[in-house]
Amino acid sequence: MAEHRPIETWLTDMDGVLVHEEDAIPGAAEFITALRESGRQFLVLTNNSIFTPRDLRARLLASGIDVPEAAIWTSALATAQFLGDQRPGGSAYVVGEAGLVTAMHDVGFVMTERDPDYVVLGETRTYSFESITRAIRLIEQGARFIATNPDPSGPSPAGTLPATGSVAALISTATGRQPYFVGKPNPLMMRSALNRLDAHSETTVMVGDRMDTDIISGLEAGLRTVLVLTGSTKQHQIERFPYRPSRVVDSVADLVDLVHSFGAHQA
Ligand SMILES: [Mg+2]
Repeated sequence: MAEHRPIETWLTDMDGVLVHEEDAIPGAAEFITALRESGRQFLVLTNNSIFTPRDLRARLLASGIDVPEAAIWTSALATAQFLGDQRPGGSAYVVGEAGLVTAMHDVGFVMTERDPDYVVLGETRTYSFESITRAIRLIEQGARFIATNPDPSGPSPAGTLPATGSVAALISTATGRQPYFVGKPNPLMMRSALNRLDAHSETTVMVGDRMDTDIISGLEAGLRTVLVLTGSTKQHQIERFPYRPSRVVDSVADLVDLVHSFGAHQA
C-alpha cells in the first residue's frame, strides 16, 4: 500500500475471510489473536442480521476463533443505530430474528404492528405469509421501509438460501416502494463501525473477500482496503472492476505478520 499514517484500526468481513460456513479459514484464528495482542481496535463485520453478537461469538468460538462479543458488528446493529439516531424513541414493525429484534430494543425502539414509523426487514429463516402481508400493508399506510442488507442469497451446506434482498424484492414488488438498505455495500455500515470505535477512516483498513461489497464500501468510506482470495472474488475478476483494493493477499494468514508490524510502520 502507499505510504500513509500507521494503521490503528482493523475492520474485517467474516464469511469468506475468517470462516466458510462453520469452518475456520486457515490463519483466521491467528489473525484475530494477532489483532488482540497488538492492542489495536478491530471489529468483525457481517451483513447477516439473524444472530446477536453473543450468538456469533459462540459460533466463531466453535470454529476456534476467539472474537470478543464487543468486537462484532452486524447489519442489525448498524440498522438499529441508524434508526435510533434518525428517530430516537421511534417505533417499528420488525420482520427478523433475535439479532435484529434485540438490537432494535437496545436502541430504545418500540415494536408495534400499529402505525409504526418503520417496517424493518432482516434475515430470517421463518418468514410467514402473514408477517409479509402485514409489512406490505404497513408500508402502504406510510411506514418507511428499511432492510438490514441487500444480499439476495446466502450459502448453506445444503445449497443456496434466499436472503433479505430477495424478500425485500417481494415486498417492493407488492408495494412499489424500495427499501433503504443499511448493510454493505452501503458505506454507512463502515462509518457506523468507525463511530462505534471512535476510529478514523484514514487510519483504518477494511479486509474483505468481495470487490462489490467489502472493497467498494471500504473505499467509499475512505478506508484502505485488503482483498483476500479465500471467498467470493477470484484473482482473474479483480481487474474487471473500475476500482481496486489497496492490496490483494491470498488469505488472512498473510496478514498476521502485517498486524504485528503495522504498529510502527505503514500498510
Ligand atoms: Mg464475505
